[in-house]
Amino acid sequence: MNVLMVDLVNQYKRIEQEINKAVLNVFNHGRFINGPEVSQFAENLAQYLNVKHVVPVANGTEAILIALMGLGIQPGDEVIVPAFTYIATVEVIAFLRAVPVLVDVDMATFNINVGQIEEAISERTKAVIPVHLYGQAANMQQILEIARQHNLGVIEDNAQSLGAEYTFSDGHRQKTGTMGDIGTTSFFPTKNLGGYGDGGAIFTDSDELYKKMRMIANHGQNKKYFHKYVGLNSRLDTVQAAILNVKLKYLDEYISKRQQAAKMYDERLADIEQIILPSVQQDRTHVFHQYTITLKTNNRDELKQYLADKGIPTQIYYPLPIHWQEAYKQIVKLPVSLDNSEFLSEHVLSLPMHTELTEEHIDFVSETIKSFFRNK
Ligand SMILES: *Cc1c(COP(=O)(O)O)cnc(C)c1O
Repeated sequence: MNVLMVDLVNQYKRIEQEINKAVLNVFNHGRFINGPEVSQFAENLAQYLNVKHVVPVANGTEAILIALMGLGIQPGDEVIVPAFTYIATVEVIAFLRAVPVLVDVDMATFNINVGQIEEAISERTKAVIPVHLYGQAANMQQILEIARQHNLGVIEDNAQSLGAEYTFSDGHRQKTGTMGDIGTTSFFPTKNLGGYGDGGAIFTDSDELYKKMRMIANHGQNKKYFHKYVGLNSRLDTVQAAILNVKLKYLDEYISKRQQAAKMYDERLADIEQIILPSVQQDRTHVFHQYTITLKTNNRDELKQYLADKGIPTQIYYPLPIHWQEAYKQIVKLPVSLDNSEFLSEHVLSLPMHTELTEEHIDFVSETIKSFFRNK
């Protein structure tokens, strides 16, 4: 059986006509930069998220960079981030010569350990970037409370959780990326809403931040050749916007397919005592960008190889916590212990997860994992 980690081709085949039509339409109108599809997509996404403003940008990394610039982060300013995340979250802080201050994550959610945020705050702390890792929200209620008390900006890195929801204690619900001052996302092809190339977006309810970030993404100008801010060129391609307009209509269906696949994994893997399955918090929905198991035993790499030998691809997100990365060792500030991040980097394994998985695929993956532990 041929199991793929992601399956973008078969997902495309289901909507081939619609995508082809949208793309050919761009080729025919010829407005390849900032064509009408781009502003249409910004509107569609704003409506989907129930957020006031969307700034489409070139990728998810620049989305975070522009968000930091929007908040006015200066060299030497401190920004609190989890040590267990994709490098992009931290790299843009370093790029601005600000200081990434690392805190740990919770074992159950893989998300920022809220208790450590206050410990990590200093006089120079300006912002915190919770990352909604693997498809589930961080504990936003407490993060927002701490941020308010200490006057910190909040940027939600929502590259992995577009469409996920979080419920506050008063019962009101919001989509991830819309609760902090700024939210960012990526349309990298393998993300839950993936284009057919690079893309990203920034969300905010603030008119002021919107105006500033939109200008920063466009060379710091809002009138051509008059530059108010130091900016950059970060645009969502018109062809990508055309594709994303089509795919956004299917995002909820894609999410539900991922949730169904996760449920099937849950049922089949439940009685393997050597592994911990992803846990969904009561106040959150999980959109399963990844289905990530945590091994209690020390043979993760052996399991990965065993599955690979049987034709089952898996991935390790992420094999090193940020403070063990060569480029970051010297740059980051480490006010708290990062035991969970270190442990997880050596014990997590992400299983095949996409919209085209069948019950047969999941049976095969699950049976193979079981057979690995049976033979131990
Ligand atoms: C993918 C990703 C990014 C960066 O997105 P790109 O579009 O690849 O630049 C940032 N943060 C997280 C958590 C991601 O998963």
